[in-house]
Amino acid sequence: MQYCRQCVYPAVHVNNLLDDEGICSACRVWEEMAAAHDDDFWRERYRRFLALLDQYRNTSGSNYDCLIPVSGGKDSYWQACLMKEHGMNPLLVTYHGNNYLPEGQGNLDRMRDVLGIDHVVFGPSVPTLKKLNRVGFTKMGDMNWHGHAGIKIWPVRAAVQFQIPLVVWGEITWSIAGMFSPDDYVEYNKRTVLEHDLRGYSWEDMVGGDQGLTPRELTWLRFPADEDLARVGVRGIYIGNYFKWDPNRHAKLMHEQFQFEFAREPFERTYRTMSNLDDMHENGIHDYLKFIKFGYGRASDHASKDVRDGYLTREQAVELVRQYDHVKPRRDLTRWLEYVGMSEDEFDRIADGFRNPRVWWIEDGQWWKDNLWGQPSSYGPVHLTDPDKIKPFERPNRQQRAA
Ligand SMILES: [Zn+2]
Repeated sequence: MQYCRQCVYPAVHVNNLLDDEGICSACRVWEEMAAAHDDDFWRERYRRFLALLDQYRNTSGSNYDCLIPVSGGKDSYWQACLMKEHGMNPLLVTYHGNNYLPEGQGNLDRMRDVLGIDHVVFGPSVPTLKKLNRVGFTKMGDMNWHGHAGIKIWPVRAAVQFQIPLVVWGEITWSIAGMFSPDDYVEYNKRTVLEHDLRGYSWEDMVGGDQGLTPRELTWLRFPADEDLARVGVRGIYIGNYFKWDPNRHAKLMHEQFQFEFAREPFERTYRTMSNLDDMHENGIHDYLKFIKFGYGRASDHASKDVRDGYLTREQAVELVRQYDHVKPRRDLTRWLEYVGMSEDEFDRIADGFRNPRVWWIEDGQWWKDNLWGQPSSYGPVHLTDPDKIKPFERPNRQQRAA
């Protein structure tokens, strides 16, 4: 495995590239933003932002000016606050995946009170969500597929329903991998949502199977028709194109201004306590699957961002990765297994089926991989039993491939 010399991202990170100097694309795009840190750069962006708001302001007062998809997190608060400060009358909309932490739920509920903005919350039926958790996990090793899909699709359905053309998203999702230059002014589009957030799967792929999901249960997972999007003129912009995106700063400001609450208990797999309160499994068992697949986890994501923003040194980041990335989150796993009715043995067997042979190999019945800090080490027993599935991970195969 190769790692970025500046942050702690591995080269196997999806959509990320290491250049000849060993620096990853996420760091390069960050540098591009940072290098352009002079006033002119941001003044021009702010001018564009104001022009955009004027274009969509509903001067007659007959409808909302924009729609903001919110999870109730620190960034949601910051976005909603920003739009209000600029004289906009937004409608907040939330996809509720039924796994909020109590403090995350509290933050969400308080938005319409402390911010004084109307709020629509949509939650699919809980039995349907449980089935989607199982299908997502067995099909693609991601029990939160429903969440990634719901968060990206439902607000756009709401935009059509409430006839609000401007949808205001927050962080540029792909900036985590450095897929776009700041000058691209990337906007929300169906293709990238399908390819990235939904991993190429749509609601049709969830129908049938051993969970027996029906089309009737999944109406909310359908994209609005192109004609309807065109009729309303729906357009999704990212605030990250117009303002410097600093999650640590947002959290601090929102806590001071609106008593935004952080996680009361530390997470098992990352050191940050201000992120992902809207889904307890996002930082837990969902993220553990990322470690199973690609050999790194959310502590690497958080630490990489915090190195770039100057909150951590690379040495501190390496230590945090060593401490958190491999942890099998006991508390979170127990809750999820109970939620969907699955045994830990079944979980481990299915999870092992998603290991990436570019990252993992098998030695003496144990999973091994290289580490950010040098020497390889082992990470628990192999649960695969099918010899065909074991073969790609055996040491001789690996050495042949390397040769
Ligand atoms: Zn990097």
